[in-house]
Amino acid sequence: MLFDFGGTLDADGVYWSPRFHAAYRAAGGSLDFAAFDPIFKATDEALARLPGIQALGFRAAIEAQSRLLAARLPDRVDADALTDRLHTDAVTIVTRNRPILERLRRRYRLGIVSNFTGNLQPCLEELDLARLFVVVSDSTVVGWSKPDARIFAHTLAALQVPAQRAWMVGDNFEADIRGAANLGMQTCWLAPAERVAPDGPAPTARIQSLPDVERVLA
Ligand SMILES: [Mg+2]
Repeated sequence: MLFDFGGTLDADGVYWSPRFHAAYRAAGGSLDFAAFDPIFKATDEALARLPGIQALGFRAAIEAQSRLLAARLPDRVDADALTDRLHTDAVTIVTRNRPILERLRRRYRLGIVSNFTGNLQPCLEELDLARLFVVVSDSTVVGWSKPDARIFAHTLAALQVPAQRAWMVGDNFEADIRGAANLGMQTCWLAPAERVAPDGPAPTARIQSLPDVERVLA
């Protein structure tokens, strides 16, 4: 069974950009999401190039991105306030999800396939999730990004599970669902109710938060 990380294990299908935007507004920021999003995307690229990024754990990575963001935003916002809000919200969801993953792990071999910045392993260790996964594929480390079939095939080979018997659970339709469906995997799309599914083949199942995945598999 494969999982995405960001938005899937640490949030209920909400991307990092709207999460940061909500924290920014709560800290007194004035930009609407349309103006905020390109600035946020620029910090994603800056974060990926940050010296030492490979060693940063979960909170340190959020802190680094909060600082990059605060330096680029037109209004003065407290980077520490962004860090605290993002980190607290994510840890709350991870803490809720961890027992579910612990149960699934008794029935399935679990892996993670993530488009990440090379530091997913230290992030998972900090969140006490690393021990639950047999294999962790971080795109920066393995050299392929979702939806490239090679990152899925590489991870399934490490689990020794054929694609037809495997599930992919993720929140990004293009990267996670289409990518995995192209290999013949069963797919579970984690998305808020209001998110519209793109045209084309539907996922095998759709859920609104990770705890619902057990109902899908039952
Ligand atoms: Mg995601």
